[in-house]
Amino acid sequence: MDKNLELSKLKNFILKFNQNFPGKNLVFSDGNKDAKVMIIGEAPGKTEDKLQKPFVGRAGKLLDSLLELVKLDRTKVYITNVVNYRPDKNRKPTPDEIKEFKKLLFKHIEIINPKCILLLGATAATAVLNHIGPLNDVRGKWKNLKIINSYFDILTTFHPAFLLRQPNKIKIVIHDIKSLKKKI
Ligand code: URA
Repeated sequence: MDKNLELSKLKNFILKFNQNFPGKNLVFSDGNKDAKVMIIGEAPGKTEDKLQKPFVGRAGKLLDSLLELVKLDRTKVYITNVVNYRPDKNRKPTPDEIKEFKKLLFKHIEIINPKCILLLGATAATAVLNHIGPLNDVRGKWKNLKIINSYFDILTTFHPAFLLRQPNKIKIVIHDIKSLKKKI
C-alpha cells in the first residue's frame, strides 16, 4: 500500500465533511506516518484550527512534555483526532459527529497500521472502543481490538486538556505512557 497516496485520498475525502463546520480548517494529522504509536484525541481547538495541526495549543504542549518523559516526540508518533474540524465554541463533538467521523478514523488507522494506539479522553474511547460511561472503567487497560481487518493494541488515558484542570491526575497518565513505551 502506498501510504502517502492513501493518506492524501483520505484527506481529500474528509475535506467534503466540512459542511457542519463553516469557516473551519481541516486538521488532519501530525507526526510520522510510519510510527509505531498512533495517538487519537477529540477534536481541534482554536490554535489547532489556526495552525492546521493537532495538539499544538496548551493541551498539546502538555502532551509533548509527557511524551518527552519516555523519549517520544512527533518524529516517533502519529497524531490525529476523532473529529478533524473544530466544533464551534469549543463544544464537544456530538454523538452523530463521532459516529460520522469514526468511519474516517478507522480508515485512517488502517492506513497508518500502528503497533499500538493511545486514546486520549472520552470522545476517542467512545469512537474506538464504543465506550460510554466513566473513563476510569477503561483507562490504563490494554485492549486488543479488530479495526476493519486487523487487530490493534489499544490503551486509553486521560485527555491532556483534562490534566490542565486536574494536574493531580498527571502521575496516572505518566504511568500509562510508560506502559505504552514498554509495549513498542
Ligand atoms: N484537543 C484535542 O483533542 N485535539 C487537539 O488537536 C487539540 C486539543
